[in-house]
Amino acid sequence: MKNATRCVSLSEEERFGAVSTPIYQTATFRQPTAVEFGEYDYSRSGNPTRTDLETKLAELERAPFAFAFSSGMSALSAITKLLTTGDEILAGSDLYGGSIRLLERLPRLGISVTYVDTTDVQNVRAALSNRTRMLLIETPTNPFQRVSDIAALADLAHANGVILVVDNTMLSPCLQNPIVCGADIVYHSGTKFLSGHSDVTAGVVVAKDEELADEIAFVRNAEGTALAPFDSWLLLRGIKTLDLRVEKQCSNALKVAEFLANEAGIRRVFHPSLASEEARRTHERQASGFGSVIAFTTGDAEFSRRIVEATRLCSIAVSFGSVNSTISLPCYMSHASIPDALRGELAPPRDLVRLSVGIENVEDIIEDLRSAIRSAAASNVVAIGKAVGE
Ligand code: PLP
Repeated sequence: MKNATRCVSLSEEERFGAVSTPIYQTATFRQPTAVEFGEYDYSRSGNPTRTDLETKLAELERAPFAFAFSSGMSALSAITKLLTTGDEILAGSDLYGGSIRLLERLPRLGISVTYVDTTDVQNVRAALSNRTRMLLIETPTNPFQRVSDIAALADLAHANGVILVVDNTMLSPCLQNPIVCGADIVYHSGTKFLSGHSDVTAGVVVAKDEELADEIAFVRNAEGTALAPFDSWLLLRGIKTLDLRVEKQCSNALKVAEFLANEAGIRRVFHPSLASEEARRTHERQASGFGSVIAFTTGDAEFSRRIVEATRLCSIAVSFGSVNSTISLPCYMSHASIPDALRGELAPPRDLVRLSVGIENVEDIIEDLRSAIRSAAASNVVAIGKAVGE
């Protein structure tokens, strides 16, 4: 079965033949007797709407187990509970700002965090220590769209008793399945492509085996971070159009990246389609599309800000992966939460713009960007003229 079919197919025969998964909006379930439990007992532990969603997510990620969480961050938090005092986590050096904020709470528990550029496997090899237990990467990264070789990192990790965790948010399971490439755990901000409509906050953890799955299930149940029934239904509904949306977003993004790469005033454009030959080959080996998030620099923070603020179709908003195109300055927005002590090393530059390409007509998106760049250039000239006049 292909992804487009998987996205819309019903997981199980519904009792009354409903073609949309019912929302089991119930916190608790009646039990057969006082000394035995039925299939479901309490929605923190399990809920049929959520089960349907998890079955779909596992199918799409080609993995045996999937868990839906209340957010991408609660998903990552559960994953970090696999570690214990004395362990070390090696993390990519270009990660979502909120992930770094969360990881930076670990040292107080005696778990150390080391950031490493994982685009080169040798860097990771050199950084491994006898305390390393987990390697955590994004590929492509947020915001720089850097590519790491999942299979090569999985081999290296496993040879050293380390588990490989991949944040697959940037591509969605319709474009990349890290478990198939050798990852042990995959997680998502379901808030992005899986939802696709910016109407639900959700997270997902996918595990390759029962041992890891049991740990994740334990933490989620103990902490109460599972996705609520209505939000599970919203995510299920979003997933029905995932393949369709992602395909359109990817084809739009290719044209937008090409436009930006040829536009005067834009210095560098970051998108896997424009990556180095080697990075592109790695990406093409492990993914079936380049994704629809593009970053670019202008060399001038004020000019970048003016571009972002001059767009009309693209909304200024954090997050990505929605049907609507959005634009942001990661340094001030999605990556503002990187702690001060690490900003020099890990924060994106102030002139970096991140664009999430939606499903609108691509000519309209390009026209919006073209006119924003022109009007920002014009107002920058006026601003510079005024400054010189002063
Ligand atoms: N991973 C990536 C790559 C993200 O960009 C984000 C949020 O922007 C997250 C994880 C966190 O997900 P959530 O906002 O759903 O908690």
